[in-house]
Amino acid sequence: MSRQKKQALLEQIKADILAKNICPDLAKTATNLVVGDGDADANIVFIGEAPGKNEDEQGIPFIGAAGKFLNEMLASIKLSRETVYITNIVKYRPPNNRDPLPDEKKAFWPFLIRQLDVIEPEIIVTLGRHSMEYFLPGMKIGQIHGEPKRISIGKRKVVILPLFHPAAALYNGSLRQTLIDDFSRIPKILELTKNERK
Ligand code: URA
Repeated sequence: MSRQKKQALLEQIKADILAKNICPDLAKTATNLVVGDGDADANIVFIGEAPGKNEDEQGIPFIGAAGKFLNEMLASIKLSRETVYITNIVKYRPPNNRDPLPDEKKAFWPFLIRQLDVIEPEIIVTLGRHSMEYFLPGMKIGQIHGEPKRISIGKRKVVILPLFHPAAALYNGSLRQTLIDDFSRIPKILELTKNERK
């Protein structure tokens, strides 16, 4: 499928979230729906928790302090935001940045799956436990961070790389280094998945 077609399908997902009035309470307090950013044909998709204040104001995921850290880590492995796709499990900002509720994650999950079906990435990097728990139920981020896991989504096989959330790691020296170390494994994993598909 062409990149242009994928882009159009991603736009349709956004339109459907609005038309179906998903999480009306969150929609009421939010300024913008934050669906995603980056290449509709990316090999790698990053999934965070939910938009924060800056993201809500501008309608773009990961543009505050955590986003800046994410950009730096991407640059360190010679990737940029334009070559990956970045989204969240919950696509409206929860009031006062509270944790997303289980019902909110459940409501947005089918739309996240539709995004992944369109983009067809080789690797999904979950940032924090909120996006990890749906792909790897029952697992603990503290035990499996940085370890690639193979799963199936529908008919497609994909690698999930569970990482700590950049916001959690930002001001915690040892967690920060752990995240940077885990992140540095991405190029190798990308190469392995590409070779396997040849
Ligand atoms: N934290 C997230 O999980 N997502 C964003 O978009 C910004 C901060």
